[in-house]
Amino acid sequence: MDYKRYFDQAIGRLRDERRYRVFADLERNPTRFPVAKWYPDGIESGQAQDVLIWCSNDYLAMGQHPAVIEAAAQAVRLYGAGAGGTRNISGTNHPLVKLEAELAGLHRKEACLAFTSGWISNLAALGTIGQLLPDCLILSDALNHNSMIEGIRRSGCSKQIFRHNDTEHLEELLKAAGRERAKIVVFESLYSMDGDIAPVAKIAELAKKYNALTYVDEVHAVGMYGPHGGGICEREGVMDQIDIIEGTLAKGFGTLGGYIAADANICDAVRSYAPSFIFTTALPPALAEAALAAVRHLRHSDAERIAHQSAAQLTKSALVAAGIPVMPNTSHIVPAFVGDAELCKEASDLLLEKHSIYIQPINYPTVARGTERLRITPTPRHTEEHIAGLVEALVSVWKELNLPLFEPIPQHVIAFGPVAAE
Ligand SMILES: *Cc1c(COP(=O)(O)O)cnc(C)c1O
Repeated sequence: MDYKRYFDQAIGRLRDERRYRVFADLERNPTRFPVAKWYPDGIESGQAQDVLIWCSNDYLAMGQHPAVIEAAAQAVRLYGAGAGGTRNISGTNHPLVKLEAELAGLHRKEACLAFTSGWISNLAALGTIGQLLPDCLILSDALNHNSMIEGIRRSGCSKQIFRHNDTEHLEELLKAAGRERAKIVVFESLYSMDGDIAPVAKIAELAKKYNALTYVDEVHAVGMYGPHGGGICEREGVMDQIDIIEGTLAKGFGTLGGYIAADANICDAVRSYAPSFIFTTALPPALAEAALAAVRHLRHSDAERIAHQSAAQLTKSALVAAGIPVMPNTSHIVPAFVGDAELCKEASDLLLEKHSIYIQPINYPTVARGTERLRITPTPRHTEEHIAGLVEALVSVWKELNLPLFEPIPQHVIAFGPVAAE
């Protein structure tokens, strides 16, 4: 048995398809973010150069916020570095209890249960909730994230997929299943690759009509939308209409971890039955305190949300004005359409090597083949100067690779990124 050959072949297949991934070796710094140091030649050389990060999911730069950093540093000194074990074996660190109470309050739910990541929270919650309901049918949006798909698989429930954001199709499936059967509608509030937003109120209304539970992944919205950062459901005034809200602490809140907020008995059931909760060490106190500081800050401060949306709009309109095919949406995500795996990778390489701009290419399986793109994520720390530099670099790369540019549109004519991505 030649084991090595199989791994080499597996990697070779990815290289052939031009979707072998290379991660840039970066060193972030709180005072300089979104500028980071890039180590192009490995540890030995030690050579680093400055690059501008344009693809971070630390959307509001909360991971670099002084109050969040101080909370983590203090907590390490007060409570130590680790968590000390699983909650089943070692109990719960007090900071984690405070964090769960804060998140339950944010989403106006009875309870919250925290996990070591958003990915795990979807696996644990969907896997368990689905399993505990007899003959449960899961209705899942076609573009749901991998973590939800894995959770649904884990639940062993039968699954039907409704067309993306298509409430008519969802209603057909709900109606066919009937009021009596256990059903969970599983969807995201904001889809992070296209940046489009789900019709959450309509979905909640249909779920009530046909007596289904609703489970929404608000990972790309918590901290960033709603008057207190409660997400799209808070913004639309429907948090109380949704049964289970899942979020991450790693994107808008800038740290690490995931959670669900729901009725107390749902959280208790997941806590009591989910192996991916029971058998893994809890979040350490310093992370819980850091996340708590971020959540508390964003519950009372709108400044980051306003600056974030404004940076996103400025970036979109400047790119559109320069003819870059920005895929239109009404969120903070700025996808620049490329449509080819190899060109997407080349564009990303050129940006990094020639322009000191880091934007990771987005290829299959993250998005469908033929819809490869550069996913740009402006933060409140991206200035107008940064945006101007990005536009110049992208136009130069687009020309160098012979990618299609639209007729440049005078800046004053653009209301809000209205360009089709064909
Ligand atoms: C990133 C992501 C997750 C996973 O969250 P992590 O905290 O990074 O594990 C879950 N759902 C969606 C839609 C995501 O994009």
